[in-house]
Amino acid sequence: MWVGVGTVFAMQALPTQVDHLVIGAGFAGIGAAIKLDEAGERDYLVVEKDDDVGGTWQANTYPGAACDVPSQLYSFSFGRRQDWSRSFSPQPEIREYLHRVAREAGILDRFSLATRMEDARWDDTAQRWRVRVTHGGVVHDVSARTILSGTGGLSEPRLPDIEGIEDFGGTIFHSARWDHSVDLRGLRVAVIGTGASAIQIVPELQKIVGRLMVHQRTAPYVIPRTDRRYTRVERRLFRVLPALQRLYRTATYWGRELYVPAFTGHQELAWPARKLALQNIARGIADPELRAKVTPTYAVGCKRVLISNTYYPALAAANVELVTDRIDRVTPTGIVTADETERPVDVIVVATGFHATAQPIADHITGRDGITLGERWEAEGMASYKGTTTRGFPNLFQIVGANTTLGHSSMVFMIESQLAYVIDALRTMRVHRYAAVEPRQDSQDAWNEDLQERLSRSVWNTGGCSSWYLDRHGRNTVIWPRSTFAFRQQLAEFDVAAYDVAAG
Ligand code: NAP
Repeated sequence: MWVGVGTVFAMQALPTQVDHLVIGAGFAGIGAAIKLDEAGERDYLVVEKDDDVGGTWQANTYPGAACDVPSQLYSFSFGRRQDWSRSFSPQPEIREYLHRVAREAGILDRFSLATRMEDARWDDTAQRWRVRVTHGGVVHDVSARTILSGTGGLSEPRLPDIEGIEDFGGTIFHSARWDHSVDLRGLRVAVIGTGASAIQIVPELQKIVGRLMVHQRTAPYVIPRTDRRYTRVERRLFRVLPALQRLYRTATYWGRELYVPAFTGHQELAWPARKLALQNIARGIADPELRAKVTPTYAVGCKRVLISNTYYPALAAANVELVTDRIDRVTPTGIVTADETERPVDVIVVATGFHATAQPIADHITGRDGITLGERWEAEGMASYKGTTTRGFPNLFQIVGANTTLGHSSMVFMIESQLAYVIDALRTMRVHRYAAVEPRQDSQDAWNEDLQERLSRSVWNTGGCSSWYLDRHGRNTVIWPRSTFAFRQQLAEFDVAAYDVAAG
C-alpha cells in the first residue's frame, strides 16, 4: 500500500536561500524537480500547499475520478509504468504513479508539503525573487534566483455566483474538495454543472443517492469511453517488451494528433465525433424529451469533448432529474430555478470548474515594475512568451502557463516540452553567467499575435459556445491551437535572442 508522502516526510528546516523555487508538487512540480536534478541544478526547494504530492490527482478524489487521456500517454516519458491496470487510469492509480516516480527519483527530501507560497517579489537590485511562504502557521522568507511555477490552471475551484448559496443549510462542497465524511446514501443531492468532473460523478451518485438533480446549463458532447482492463498477457508484454509499450504510446500519441485539424479550422472533419455523441445519447436514453435536452447545439470540440458510457444511462435512471431551467437562487433548504420551482436538497455538489483564465497564483507574484501578474492579466488578459516566461517577470518560468492547455492530448507532453525549455534556459544562464532573463515585449507580442490569429479560426472561438477557454475580453488565453509536436519544436531550445538578459 502507498502511504501519503506527507505523512512520512517532514522537512526539518526551510532553507532561506535557494537557486530555484518550484511551486506545486503535481506533474509539473515533480517533473521540474526531476529535470533540475538531472541537469545538476540541485539547489532547489519544492513547496506544495497540500499535505501530499500529486497536485490535481491528489486533490480530486470525487467518486469516479479518472483520466480521459489514455494511461500510456498520460505519464512521463522518463517514468514509464508497465502495470497500468486499465487503458484509462483511475485517479488513485495516477496519484500512486506520481508518488512512485517522485520516490524513485530520490527528490522528496527537497519537498516542503503543507507549505503555501504567499508572496513573491522580484528584487531588481539583487536580481532575485524574495518569497514568503507559510508552513504550520509560521512565515518563512526564502530568496530564490528563479521560480518555476507548476500550479497549473485547475488548482483553485471556481464557485458559482448564485444568490443565497452561502446560506444553504445542508452540506455543500466543490467536486475538487470532496467531503468524504458525508454519507450520501439515500439523500437528495444536486449536482451543479455538467463538465468533465460532473459527468464522472453523476453515474456514481446515481447508484447510491435517493434522488439526484443534475443542473445543466449547457449540454456537453459525450462520446463513448473506450476504456478496458488490460489483460494479464498485455501487462506481461509491456513488462518484458518495453519497446512494445513505447510503440503503443507512440501510436496513441499520433492517433490523438489527428484530431488537431478538426479543432483548428476544419470543423467539417469533426462529424464522426458528433455522430458518436448522438449514438451515445440514443444508446443511453430512450425518452425523446430527455434526448433533446442533452443534445448540444454548438459545434463539436468548442467545449472539451467528454467520454463516458455511463453518464447518459444515469441521467435516464428513475431517481435522476436533469434540470435545464436556469438556477435562480439557493435557499437554506433547496434550489429554486427560473420557473420558481423549488427542489429541496440535502447536499449540493458544485462541479463548476476552476479559475483557469486567471490563475490565482498570479495575484501573489509581483514583478519588476511593482505590479502583480494578476494585475497585468486583469488589464491585458493572460499572456506570456511560449506559455512559459512573461515580460516584466524576470526568471519566472511558468509550467502550464497561458495557451498551453490541450483539447485533444496529454498535458504531460506539454509539461515535458516546457521543462526542456526551462532547463535549457538555466543552462544558458549558467554558461553565459546571466543573472536574469526576461522575454522582450516584441517577442511576447509576436508570439501572442500569431496564437490569436490561429485561434480566431478555431472551433474554440467560432464554435458557438461559451467556455472557460475564453476570458472576459473574449480572448482565448488557455488553449494551444496547434499540434503538440509544433509546441515541442518551438520550445526545443532556449532562444536567448528573444530575451533581455542581465549580466551576473
Ligand atoms: P468545467 O469543464 O469548467 O465544467 C463546469 C460546469 O459547470 C459546466 O457544465 C458549466 O456550464 C457549469 N457551470 C459553471 N458555472 C455555473 C453556474 N453558475 N450555474 C450552473 N452551471 C455552471 O469544470 P470541470 O468539469 O471541473 O472540468 C474542468 C477541467 O478539468 C476539464 O475541462 C478538464 O480539463 C479537467 N478534467 C479532466 C478530467 C479528466 O478526465 N482528465 C476529469 C475532470 C476534469 P457551462 O458549460 O454552461 O459553462
